[in-house]
Amino acid sequence: MSSYDFSIFWKESIKQLKEDKLISNQEFDMWFTNINYVSSSENSITVSVPSNFYKDQVVQRYLDVLESRLLQLSGRQLKLHFFIIQKNDKKIPSKNEVIIESHELNEIKPQIRQIKPKSHPQLRYDYTFENFVVGNNNIFAANAAKGISDNPGSSYNPCLIYGGVGMGKTHLMQSIGNEIFKSGADTKIVFISAETFVSEFIQSLKNKTQQAFKNRYRNNVDVLLIDDIHEFHSKEGTQDELFHTFNALYDANKQMVFTCDRPPSELVNFANRLKSRFEMGLNVDLQPPNYETRLAILKNMNDESKINIPDEVMEMICKNITTNIRDLKAALTKLIAYADLVGKNITTEIAQNQLKQAFNAPIQANITIDRVQRIVSEYFNITPNDLKGKKRTKVITFPRQISMYIIREVTDFSTTEIGLEFGGRDHTTVMHSCQRIEDRMKTDSTIEPLVMNLIRSVKEHGNK
Ligand code: ADP
Ligand code: MG
Repeated sequence: MSSYDFSIFWKESIKQLKEDKLISNQEFDMWFTNINYVSSSENSITVSVPSNFYKDQVVQRYLDVLESRLLQLSGRQLKLHFFIIQKNDKKIPSKNEVIIESHELNEIKPQIRQIKPKSHPQLRYDYTFENFVVGNNNIFAANAAKGISDNPGSSYNPCLIYGGVGMGKTHLMQSIGNEIFKSGADTKIVFISAETFVSEFIQSLKNKTQQAFKNRYRNNVDVLLIDDIHEFHSKEGTQDELFHTFNALYDANKQMVFTCDRPPSELVNFANRLKSRFEMGLNVDLQPPNYETRLAILKNMNDESKINIPDEVMEMICKNITTNIRDLKAALTKLIAYADLVGKNITTEIAQNQLKQAFNAPIQANITIDRVQRIVSEYFNITPNDLKGKKRTKVITFPRQISMYIIREVTDFSTTEIGLEFGGRDHTTVMHSCQRIEDRMKTDSTIEPLVMNLIRSVKEHGNK
């Protein structure tokens, strides 16, 4: 009989998934009411699912988040194993019955997931120094990051990496984590977005588990990586908690790295004592890359792909997309996908056609905030006043965030100006909204086409 019982961590991890609103109640009911805990071993938990379809869906949608929750909760790298209940398996053994141990599962045809190459559960495996192209714009930051991964906790502590959207902050920060992880040393690395940190903290207050939260971040970490700390603005309670976390880790010579969309001095609604902590160690910035660096980034990316995009096309992309590495990469990805699907070689004409939108994207002088608000509210069947008003129901906030995002994309109004046109909201709210949409685009494939269509309508109206 197995002496391990991690059922409590399993239960808590799916509970958190629900409570943190990482998935809707509907989705939760769909996927999690039919999964049952079966058994544990030293480094795994086995759960049962009704079909292969179930297993694949749960693996695709939730495996990463579940495994990283399990790590956070238990401090162990627990892998999730699945087995499919056959029709004649009447039920799952209950606690008092025989616990099925891993090797016994053979009898009921376990569907054990292939174990991935060893990678840190919270880090993207491809965010490495090898994949990070160094140019004039980022050489200082890149060298500092390498220095940190060679000697965490010693020279550059804390380190704050700042720069605009899509400049490579997350990539560089995760490279530090991946490098230390690869070195094989027994170093506990925790990567967390500021947003998740906030929601975990709030959750711990609700559940009265503050002590566990404190332990997790103050006593159980060697390298703490917190992404997008500007998200802590106006969150006084969490700032306070972070301040104490910071001090505990700093005193214990543990490495901390933060990313931020601006230098700490420009943070608003931040406790001064926390700002000064961020300023203490090394602050490095990531600037927009110049033409040569942009080209090097694309070439590096194209080398990884089986489809070859001609140099002249890459040069054209680099001339036209100048500000943001994320957009630059997205343009190349689009062409690679096109070539793959249509089976054609990419010429400059095809590229121009496919990337029209990205090339024209930046500024359209004649587009007003008012027009975007009208078109978006019409589409969602609400009024422009709803967008400007105070209501925070989902029916309104989503269109509001979309409107702000579109205005940021197609005009050059500042976030402060945009905030004013949305009932006098703070510029950080505007930034936060845009970030929300960007984040959702990454996980929900329906959002990008929706935004693109709205942008098209906004532009068309402009020409009438
Ligand atoms: P940020 O966190 O600053 O918004 P990301 O780290 O998410 O930006 O980077 C956006 C995209 O650009 C990612 O796909 C990342 O891999 C890529 N990227 C950024 N900087 C570089 C670089 N120097 N070399 C290669 N890829 C980069
Ligand atoms: Mg980022």
